[in-house]
Amino acid sequence: MTDLARATSLLTIDVDAVVANWRRIATLIAPAEAAAVVKADCYGLGVVQIAPALFAAGCRSFFVANLDEGIQLRKIVPGGVIYVLSGPVGGGEQDFAAHGLIPVLNSLAQITGWSAFAKAGSAAPASAIHLDTGMTRLGLEEVEVERLAAKPDVLASVRPILAMSHLACADDDTAPKNNEQLATFRRLSSQLPAMPLSLSASGGIFLGRAFRFDMARPGAALYGLNPIPGRPNPMAQVVRLQGKILQVRDVDSPMTVGYGATHRVAQRGKIATVAVGYADGWLRSLSNRGHGVIGGFKVPLVGRVSMDLTTFDVADVPAPLVHPGALIDLISPELTVDEVASEAGTIGYEILTALGRRHHRRWLTGTREGKPA
Ligand SMILES: *Cc1c(COP(=O)(O)O)cnc(C)c1O
Repeated sequence: MTDLARATSLLTIDVDAVVANWRRIATLIAPAEAAAVVKADCYGLGVVQIAPALFAAGCRSFFVANLDEGIQLRKIVPGGVIYVLSGPVGGGEQDFAAHGLIPVLNSLAQITGWSAFAKAGSAAPASAIHLDTGMTRLGLEEVEVERLAAKPDVLASVRPILAMSHLACADDDTAPKNNEQLATFRRLSSQLPAMPLSLSASGGIFLGRAFRFDMARPGAALYGLNPIPGRPNPMAQVVRLQGKILQVRDVDSPMTVGYGATHRVAQRGKIATVAVGYADGWLRSLSNRGHGVIGGFKVPLVGRVSMDLTTFDVADVPAPLVHPGALIDLISPELTVDEVASEAGTIGYEILTALGRRHHRRWLTGTREGKPA
């Protein structure tokens, strides 16, 4: 039996679609540079498979969240320029240098630490400086930018090659906060020596040319999430998740389905039990709310999602399509990650990064089928 035949769920990741999405953004924002945000294992989709494909397509700058991700990525894309968003934490400077990772310096303390490390004669990589323009998570506030600007020797010693900030409301092009942050970014960055600037992630790119500066940092859009919610998604879909039907049950009133007996059967029908549950990232909040698609028929999710299983009302689907071993689409081009997220009361980012390790995964590149590395 092949792995595929034995699998109870199948996660297919279209690497070519990720590359096409990156190319699309790179073309759109040229001459600004399109980096790629590949943190959290490429939002759960496989950095080992995806990052080299992006590099081969011409992507040169990559962002990860922490040092361990940076060290892993250095092995995967030896020639990439790798930025680590958290910067050095707890004295990790030496590791950054050893692996040629560029820290994003998010505070005066991190800048002081990196400066001391660089001045101590170590071959410290260049750095990026994070300016807080209104997110209030990481980055220098205005008074801190002024203090830094007053110490040109410190500033020079950290060799900044990028000043960046992050937008709070980029998914809403009517939010006044976007232009406020743009103005603040211009003001703060102008107090520093001239260097490349980066403000936008996926959403910001679509707010217009003024937001693109020298580099954009898309993540979500590469993985097929809609960077302009409420308008047609310009990005190609990347993910397909299929669950296998384990059993089909004939039901009738007054039976109930699943934990808590939350679904009461009202009339004669059929329930398909599918081998995907919240342990696979199929969120429990989809209970009695989500749906699947089988042979083009939309089927409602009934009862509670449990750890390994989910139940669907398949009464309206032609019988030949519904049998043990048949696959039901849980995420597909017709049932997008964004749609599943809205049914689950969350955002596509959370659906992607929650996708479980238990799915049989395949990565599509051209006609080849990739295997786990
Ligand atoms: C995660 C992240 C990004 C990518 O954001 P998307 O919305 O996924 O494009 C860019 N910049 C920073 C600072 C981030 O933390």
